[in-house]
Amino acid sequence: MRIGILGGGQLGWMTIMEGKKLGFEFLVLDSSKTSPACKVADGCFDYSSIDEFVRLCDVVTYEFEHIPDEVLESVSHLTLPSVEVLNLKKSKVEEKLYLRRSGYPVPNFLVSAGEDLEKTVAMLNLPVVIKAESLGYDGKGQYLIKGDTGKLKTITMNHKKEERFLVEEFVEFDFEFSIIGVRSGKGEIKLYPLTINYHEEGILIYNKTTDLNFPFAQEMVKSLMEELNIVGLLCIEFFHTKDGRILINEIAPRTHNTGHWTLDGCYTSQFENLVRAICGLPLGSTRLKSPSGMVNIIGKSYEEIDIKRILSVEGTKLYWYGKEKRYRRKMGHVNVVGDSQEDVEKKLEYLNDVLFGALKC
Ligand code: ADP
Repeated sequence: MRIGILGGGQLGWMTIMEGKKLGFEFLVLDSSKTSPACKVADGCFDYSSIDEFVRLCDVVTYEFEHIPDEVLESVSHLTLPSVEVLNLKKSKVEEKLYLRRSGYPVPNFLVSAGEDLEKTVAMLNLPVVIKAESLGYDGKGQYLIKGDTGKLKTITMNHKKEERFLVEEFVEFDFEFSIIGVRSGKGEIKLYPLTINYHEEGILIYNKTTDLNFPFAQEMVKSLMEELNIVGLLCIEFFHTKDGRILINEIAPRTHNTGHWTLDGCYTSQFENLVRAICGLPLGSTRLKSPSGMVNIIGKSYEEIDIKRILSVEGTKLYWYGKEKRYRRKMGHVNVVGDSQEDVEKKLEYLNDVLFGALKC
């Protein structure tokens, strides 16, 4: 069986490493031959070779959202989860409208055309978070407006004229968490344990497993996977608000940064379970082996990290993606397991300190 992956980033890299253990071949569609996934794939194709890529693949999946429509049209008959689901995710506006229409709890929001941004912002209480409809990730295309509405003009200048925006209430949350589910073609569903996630300026810094449990949120993951007929993975990121509500922030029908820890903390990683699901194999156990955590390595070169100090912590594993260093770019991550939640927290605190200096867990 030959599996195609749209996108050559680290999510594809880890999917390939996990999927090769099961005996599968992988082809990657990406414009850069030096992308992490291309380096470990059995073949790498750019967009101009899409026909050959399609001819050689038995099934195709994706590891990021921002894939041109023409490419998606050529592969849609092979793609899992379906291109319809991916298209929903490509637009932050359509994604939120769908969730609200389907009765899922989401933050209060309005949709605005670029030229109406000022008017729309005036209709909500400040602060608000403005999110561009497309091409946003890791906080890109996202703007926090606290009081300075003069900033709004520069926002529209950064985007295409026809771009729409989500204008969302700023959610006062206690914490953020996410749940990843996997669903097979036969409709079998398994959920991973939830994790508490810590973001800064829109980018995930670290996360950890927890004893907390939110059956209402778990039910949402299950029902959304069924409604969208997902074959593969679905991650939902939630806000737990200060007044005790659970709201959906966003969804992702693919492997997710908040599930990297499953490589070492679960019996079957999210990456292996994606491969199992799209290849019609029985799903693997999503049970927790031991309390776990993960720290992202952001914007640092290999020379700038103290690998000896990182690996001297018992239960750590380093994953280095081999990308060129850029500001705010995810360069690698460290997984950590421990005997207890407290043990993991201590290790995370130490790793955060080694990697970033003064950050607290
Ligand atoms: P991206 O797709 O770029 O990851 P998200 O919409 O997931 O963007 O936002 C990234 C992070 O920004 C969230 O995890 C959260 O920490 C913060 N954030 C996003 N929307 C809001 C909001 N409405 N209120 C408060 N914080 C928010």
